[in-house]
Amino acid sequence: ETIGAALADTVARHGGHEALVEASKDRRWSYAELDQAVTGVARGLLAYGVLAGDRIGLWAPSSAEWVMVQLAAARVGAILVSLNPAYAVGELAYALGQSGASVLIAASEHRGTDCRAVVSKTRANCPELRTVVHLDDASWHALLAAGEQLPMSQLVAREATLSCDDPINIQYTSGTTGFPKGATLSHHSILNNARLTGALLRYTERDRICVSVPLYHTFGMVVGVLAAVGHGACVVIPAPTFDPAATLYAIEREQCTALYGVPTMFIAELNHPDFATRDLSTLRTGIMGGSPCPAEVVKRVIAELHMDEVAVAYGMTETSPIATQTLLPTAADSEVEMLERRTQTVGVVHPHLELKVIDPATRLTLPRGERGELCVRGYSVMLGYWEEPERTAEVIDAARWMHTGDLAVMRADGYVQIVGRIKDMIIRGGENIYPREVEEFLHTHPKIADVQVVGVPDEKYGEEIAACVILAPGAQTLTVEEVATYCDGHLARFKTPRLVRIIGAFPLTASGKVRKGQLREETIKGLR
Ligand code: ATP
Ligand code: MG
Repeated sequence: ETIGAALADTVARHGGHEALVEASKDRRWSYAELDQAVTGVARGLLAYGVLAGDRIGLWAPSSAEWVMVQLAAARVGAILVSLNPAYAVGELAYALGQSGASVLIAASEHRGTDCRAVVSKTRANCPELRTVVHLDDASWHALLAAGEQLPMSQLVAREATLSCDDPINIQYTSGTTGFPKGATLSHHSILNNARLTGALLRYTERDRICVSVPLYHTFGMVVGVLAAVGHGACVVIPAPTFDPAATLYAIEREQCTALYGVPTMFIAELNHPDFATRDLSTLRTGIMGGSPCPAEVVKRVIAELHMDEVAVAYGMTETSPIATQTLLPTAADSEVEMLERRTQTVGVVHPHLELKVIDPATRLTLPRGERGELCVRGYSVMLGYWEEPERTAEVIDAARWMHTGDLAVMRADGYVQIVGRIKDMIIRGGENIYPREVEEFLHTHPKIADVQVVGVPDEKYGEEIAACVILAPGAQTLTVEEVATYCDGHLARFKTPRLVRIIGAFPLTASGKVRKGQLREETIKGLR
């Protein structure tokens, strides 16, 4: 099924039902109204000569228009190139040039940056870019006006030619390990991933999903927008970019039942001064994922955010995104088991996908219980990196297994534990140390609100362990001695941090994930 067909189906069944809310501006659309708006944009794109398979760049923070462009691009068969709003000229030009985008839809202003100026600088390097539309000015209205002139029959005819296996979305990875790669996803992969994720959360048309994660990433656009479309639920956008106060406000005001976030976002919400005064009792479920989820944070989300049915999930852009997810409680599960799974694992393999854990050196499949590289196969694996067959072949093998670069253990009960990224592993005096394990333990320290562990060069041991700490509200200091005493008897000596660095905030990606590579470099610089 195409995304357009899925939307039409939901509109037919839930037309009068609320589909989309921009909480910060109190703007709202029913499914019938959203459909009308999307149709308008889709006709505008056709009037501008967009062909099936053309690439349309979308460079803007989250908004209702973002959703409209996403769905309209899918209806005309264009490939949406979703771009991080924090990109500067160089990154933007690279992504637009590499994807060969012919149309760019962009914000006018973002966090004090004049996006128009950035776009005009970019244009010189993007010969294929024909049309630029800014979401909040006359060019947007011109697009809609052009669409009104275009006969509806042309849109209907275009939709009839589309196939669900067509590419529909290119998402550039954060590029921590080199130049960004454009993961290319199909209607089939993202729509079904959204449907299955929503089904596991038991979504119905009564659910209202607070999408505080950015739309430009699969977490927002697939698990947020498409899961809502697939189940007739409502998307609530709290703010253009992540804002804990706006999120707490939106949950209360819009009576959200589900909330998404990477762990750092949940931590920011739980520690926000507004947390105590907002009524968050409508929350039922949601997803925490995208980076390691500390057990302490999962526990607080269940107890204090009322998210008894929160799922912990694991995935990556290249798998559309979700590959594993914890299951919602059933009558047969004990509370202790449920908590154990959500604090110690990232759940079980998603329906219709396969997982295996291999020895990275021999590539042989390891038995359950052993640590190795996690591989995923099935419908949700990307078509490939856009126009980069060699880099695609580095991660997807001949049998279509996607090699994730993550170390994992599959337990006897089928639940998967993520040990960490292969490239984040610290080797100290010949011992392998996984930052995750040290971080988990340090999270239980009352003075620590959030912590990241990185390896720094050391003459004697090759690498030494540094803990970068954000102090809990009220805490003033934390010394390396205090940390050592705390770890004594609980963590092997060789895993105990020898350096403690107190910082105000971690360097984050726009999706709220910690840039561990950058944090490591900054920590090393600070030592010199
Ligand atoms: P890049 O590939 O450019 O370095 P990225 O890998 O951070 O960026 P994403 O595709 O957004 O980009 O993230 C996927 C990665 O996030 C996974 O490979 C894994 O390392 C990590 N991850 C996702 N969910 C979890 C989770 N629940 N627990 C631990 N790690 C997770
Ligand atoms: Mg990655």
